[in-house]
Amino acid sequence: MKKPTTPKTKTSSIGQKLPSIYADGSEMDEMLKMMEKLLHWAAIVESSDDAIISKSADGYITSWNKGAQNLYGYKPSEIVGKPVSVLMPPGKQDDFPYIMGQLHAGKKIEHYETKRVTKDGRILDVSITVSPIRDSSGHIIGASKIARDVTERVEYERRRDDFVSTASHELKTPLTSQLAFGELLEEMIDRNGNAEYKPYIRKINEQTGKLIGLVEDLLILSRLRGGRLPIENKLFSIHKVVKQAVESLQLTTKHDIELRGKTERKVRGDSNRIGQVVTNLLSNGIKYSPKADKIVVKVAEKNGFAVISIQDFGIGIPNEYHGKIFERFFRVSDTDERTYPGMGIGLNFCKDIIERHHGKIWLASKKGEGSTFYFSLPFAHGK
Ligand code: ADP
Repeated sequence: MKKPTTPKTKTSSIGQKLPSIYADGSEMDEMLKMMEKLLHWAAIVESSDDAIISKSADGYITSWNKGAQNLYGYKPSEIVGKPVSVLMPPGKQDDFPYIMGQLHAGKKIEHYETKRVTKDGRILDVSITVSPIRDSSGHIIGASKIARDVTERVEYERRRDDFVSTASHELKTPLTSQLAFGELLEEMIDRNGNAEYKPYIRKINEQTGKLIGLVEDLLILSRLRGGRLPIENKLFSIHKVVKQAVESLQLTTKHDIELRGKTERKVRGDSNRIGQVVTNLLSNGIKYSPKADKIVVKVAEKNGFAVISIQDFGIGIPNEYHGKIFERFFRVSDTDERTYPGMGIGLNFCKDIIERHHGKIWLASKKGEGSTFYFSLPFAHGK
């Protein structure tokens, strides 16, 4: 083992004087390099505009950079040693167990949007990324957290969603009355008008119906994005909801919609929203199978879940799109599909609603062979 001799000094490339431990300087170089690296990283952290914080495994703040001071208003001396929960506004304390749970499971949380409170009580929208910090033996000893202020962006999105919501409301009212009068005219032509006009008025009504569908999609989108889609929590008969959706769509289509299977058991949630899911899946089945004449809907029970399937015999969906089909705005854009109207919102809405009911949604489909969309919902206990 080497004996420490009189320390000399060396100057690192970023100007710090570092003591030399060994006269021959051999290990000193290694140490210098390491310290340079550390100082370099520390300088990056300190100069970052993002708030960079570290915390211990039990959630106490252990370091706090300039960005954090600028964002939250606390100096390091005021906050280091305090629990991170002081940054959480009263309604958002439930973030804490979620974040800590993910960390203890060794998972990283990326771009998680939430709210935080500053020293002077302002509520901020922040996007945070939290990564576990491990010691040399792999144990989690804390976490690093990067927070970015996204308040302006969230405010912009809120205004945009409000605009889309108002615009679609305003558009829907005149369109609905236009369709009602159009249908009246169709009836009058049937009774005593000139039958020559009938195909034209029917086309106008069809197109108005499509426009209303698109405007409704926009309305749903703005509600989904704004988190303003309230969900009821009541017991209801899933079979009844499916049956009602089938019956009302049957009135509007030439396809024969066949309902098979039954369950007496109830699920808990919002029957109207689940009805909308079934209607969306049925409408897609009809829309994407113009050459077929049948849709099969099944209701079944499986391992404590109601499983609903909606099968069409239409254009089908190529395998490579199955993972993307439930993403917002995703549309299959191969030549066959381009002719169908739509905005790629319906399936995303279905997924959102089903997941908010603790269920799952998936599909089986092959290009040219039709599609079957499935969703499952847990049965209410004891029912
Ligand atoms: P859209 O309004 O475009 O129909 P959706 O979110 O309902 O939006 O569907 C997303 C995309 O998935 C559609 O654009 C279409 O390409 C495809 N798709 C959905 N349902 C079916 C189906 N039953 N058969 C074939 N393709 C479908």
